[in-house]
Amino acid sequence: MKNFEYVRPTTVPEAIAAAAKPGAVYLASGTNLLDLMKGGITRPDRLVDVTRLPGLDRIEHLPDGSLRIGALVRNADLAHDSGFARSYPAVAEALLSGASAQLRNAATVGGNLLQRTRCGYFYDTASACNKRAPGTGCDARGGENRLHAVLGWSEACIATHPSDFCVPLVALDAVVEIEGRGGRREIALEAFYRLPGDTPERENLLEPGDLIVALRLPAEARTFAAHARYLKVRERTSYAFAVVSAAAALRVEAGKIRQARLALGGVAAKPWRARAAEETLAGADPTPAAFRRAAEAALADAKPSGDNLFKIELARRIIVRAFTLAAAGTPARIAALPASPFASVSGALQDA
Ligand code: SF4
Repeated sequence: MKNFEYVRPTTVPEAIAAAAKPGAVYLASGTNLLDLMKGGITRPDRLVDVTRLPGLDRIEHLPDGSLRIGALVRNADLAHDSGFARSYPAVAEALLSGASAQLRNAATVGGNLLQRTRCGYFYDTASACNKRAPGTGCDARGGENRLHAVLGWSEACIATHPSDFCVPLVALDAVVEIEGRGGRREIALEAFYRLPGDTPERENLLEPGDLIVALRLPAEARTFAAHARYLKVRERTSYAFAVVSAAAALRVEAGKIRQARLALGGVAAKPWRARAAEETLAGADPTPAAFRRAAEAALADAKPSGDNLFKIELARRIIVRAFTLAAAGTPARIAALPASPFASVSGALQDA
């Protein structure tokens, strides 16, 4: 492994100054970064350890009804916070469907947002990869690509974003709070991620030194709590990234859908908000036919990037199933197999 400098600042301004230098990266729990370093995929000159920065591990209820989640809150702590799971059940379900219990105990909210794609060619330094080494090509094109993107991809890169957590966050209009050399700014999580275009190595809007300090869920996000689910299809029941996933949420009044939210995982380089699908459901009855129309709208622009045509039909079916589960009502407890397609449609309670 390449030698690197390790620094542990005690304040956010110190951290930003230390990370603004070329070759510097932030280190939180390192559940992705350390693997990337061991494999020679990422070769930083300096690690800026943010784990001791004060005040970034809090969950705060703000006066405007929004929830502020510090970037160093652990995934498991957030998912098992009973107040959080009651108000944002699809987010808790997504958190519990990700990684393993050990990883969830260590991984942080901020780090989850910044994890890198699991494209196998990205992790293989003998392969051409425009994301790892810009301008070298993309061995996934024409290679093993059945799990790659069907929306928003480019000739330069067809990778997908691996996070479960970010999918319901995008559906619920989460905002990222960033501290940088120019002060504090906020960006909608949906806009925070970039599509690959000609520069797949640039995955988000962060500038050198920028530090994610918190995530915020707006007050409106809680209004979907009674009808919200996250559904994930993966190649084995636990500890696998999504082939396709969907976060579906409904606000139902007098038997009609007042508002719908939908975002997809495993289909693009970013969590994919499906606004056209949401619009088809406004004012509709919560019926299978309505959910099928929404699914068609969500995938209208999809096209295979390789051997992955099946993902388009799979995504349609996952959307219908996720909305059907959401319409049936959020279970009082998250199922033993969180976000599983085997979850009960009835919303019946199952032991966690
Ligand atoms: Fe690299 Fe993207 Fe191609 Fe994968 S799909 S090899 S990450 S350029």
